[in-house]
Formats: sequence, structure tokens, C-alpha cells
Amino acid sequence: MKLDNAYMDVVEAELFAATMTRKERGDKVVGVYCAFTPKELIVAAGGIPVSLCASSNDIIPVAEQHLPRNLCPLVKSSYGLALTDTCPYFHFSDLLIADATCDGKKKMYELLSQIKQVHLLGLPQTVDNEKAHEYWLSELYRLRALLEAELGNEITDESLREAIKLYNRVRESKVRVFELNKGDIPLLTGSEASIAVDPVGFEVDLPGYIDRMNRVVEFAGERGGIKPRPRILLTGCPTTSKKVLHIIEESALVIAMENCGGLKTVDLVEEDGDPMAALARASLKIACPCMSPNQRRYDLLAELIREYRVDGVVDLTWQACHTYNIESYPLSKFIRDELEVPFLQIETDYSDSDTSWIQVRVEAFVEML
Ligand code: SF4
Ligand code: SF4
Repeated sequence: MKLDNAYMDVVEAELFAATMTRKERGDKVVGVYCAFTPKELIVAAGGIPVSLCASSNDIIPVAEQHLPRNLCPLVKSSYGLALTDTCPYFHFSDLLIADATCDGKKKMYELLSQIKQVHLLGLPQTVDNEKAHEYWLSELYRLRALLEAELGNEITDESLREAIKLYNRVRESKVRVFELNKGDIPLLTGSEASIAVDPVGFEVDLPGYIDRMNRVVEFAGERGGIKPRPRILLTGCPTTSKKVLHIIEESALVIAMENCGGLKTVDLVEEDGDPMAALARASLKIACPCMSPNQRRYDLLAELIREYRVDGVVDLTWQACHTYNIESYPLSKFIRDELEVPFLQIETDYSDSDTSWIQVRVEAFVEML
């Protein structure tokens, strides 16, 4: 098994074919832009979720015809692909679910709604009070009703519990992949782990996704350890572009990732009791800087640093992402001063123009560890 682009291409082609078959039968694809959207509701309604956060740099100049240049590349790239209709995942989405997170995304969704149907989920800005939970729960009920109407299927508590169980198995498998690197001798590079846990587009075959991750765990155990190098925890904005991950791995190893595709979103949803309340509670636990305060991110990072015996933390922040860039300062103080772990912030975009500069900074950081 080789966890590379060719592996992703094969998986992507299979999922694409399965999705087209389901679409021919009348099933619908629902595009999502943020980890707060509980995909369980989409699956329970008989839909196919797909994450639409984009990684293409080429499309950004087109997006800049409508959006300010000084905006996060993730927002610009996602909009550029929608505007030019060059992303198959966007193209085949019948409905878009967007969460009111950062300002860039919120305002971009308004433009997006002129291209395709967008349902905006209101999101509380803080999670530390009961009213915030009540509000979020009411938004999830609104989403439930919308999905039932648009997808033509009733979401029963039973179908929702089944979807919760399935996504919990996905989360458990994801954790098993990352836990391969908890020991002294790591078993996967960060680049391999990020490919292993990637749903690779349409989430049309969740048992197959779980199986894929479990096969990677078996493969890594059989292959044996890889050469130990300084152990880096990568935190920050979603790693939609792998530029920084690959640069770090030229001299070190990304042992764990605290971001939306990684260990930020693996908390299990309660499987018993009221499934809507369980989904609301679990999704509001996501340690996103759009929340103020965001104490959970500090707690999660402290836990991961201890469990994965991390030598250094790299905070990847996309340019013009105010939430992550501002949080980087107090976070650096917490990690350096309180946890006494070296910390490096890399602020960048999707272009290659600063690659050499990042290489120099990362090399100097790794040498110091
Ligand atoms: S970082 Fe926050 S806003 Fe961005 S995808 Fe994750 S949860 Fe959503
Ligand atoms: S990286 Fe930051 S600015 Fe970009 S979409 Fe996520 S939270 Fe918003």
C-alpha cells in the first residue's frame, strides 16, 4: 500500500462512480463548508455529504474579481471554484449548507447564494451558556426540517441514531490512524496520516471509508516503524493546502494534527438519548477560534502535546484569517510559557511564493528542538 496521490485518485474515482449511481436513483448531494454542520443529519435524510473547502491556488485570481485580495485563501479558493463551476463536488451538490462562522465565510456565502441554494446555519459565538446551546439546537431542528423537505425523506430518531453510530465509527478509525504515532517509534508520516483520514470527496460509502482507515492501520503495523525525527504537532487553520505539512516533513515528523480534518473533530456523539441534543452538544465542542473564548482549544492542545509527546508546535494560519491569527498570540504564550514547548507560527497562503522563506524558518525551528 502506498498512501500517495495515485491511491487518492483510485478512491476518488470509485466514490465518484457510486455517487453518480445514487444520483441517477434520485438521491441528492449536500455540500458543506464547515465542521460544525452535523453530516449525520444529511446521511439520515438519505443524502450524500461532501466537504467543499477548497485548496486550489490557481482559481484565486478569478475569485479576486469579486472578493478583496486581503481575504483568507480558503474562502477565495472555495468561491473561485463555485464561480467558475470547475469543482465537480460543487457542481454535483444539489444544496449547500453553510455555517455563520468567520466574517469572510459569512459574506462569501451571500455571493454564493446567487449561484446555488445556500442554507445558512446560525452559530452562537460562544459556547459557555445554556442559551447558546438552545439556539444551536433550534438551528439544527431548522436544518432537519429543510433536509426533509429538500431530500424528500423523513429523518426519524432511529435513522439519526444509525447515522450517529456510523460517524462515530469513522471518528474511532481516524483516532486509530493518528494513534499509530503515539509510541516512541512512529508508524506513519503526517502526510500519510492526512491521506489515510481524508474522506476523498463524496461521503457515499462510510463503511468503505472506515474499512480504508482500518486497512491503513494494519498496513502500518506490518510495515513497521519509520525513522524517528523531531515530533511536531500541527495546529491551526484547516490544512486544505498541504504546503506547510510537506515542508515540516522535510526535516521533522508531523506526529499529530489539531485541525478540522484531524483531531479537532473526533469527539464521539452520545449514541443513547435524544439524538438532536447529542449532536448539538458534540458539534459545539469543536475547538474553533470563531468561538470566544476558545478555552477548549488550549485544553485539547495540552492533552495532545502530553499524549503524543510533542517536541514542538507549528501553528499554521492562513493570511487574513483574523480568528486564527489573533488567537496565535495567546496560544503561543500558553504553549511556550506554561507548557514549555517550542512554538512557531507560520502565516501563509496557497501560493508557492514564500516556500523558501518557510523552509528556512522551519529548519531553524527544528534544529532548535
Ligand atoms: S476552523 Fe472553524 S470555521 Fe473553519 S472549518 Fe473548522 S470549525 Fe469551521
Ligand atoms: S481559515 Fe480562518 S478566515 Fe479562512 S475560512 Fe477558516 S476561519 Fe475563516
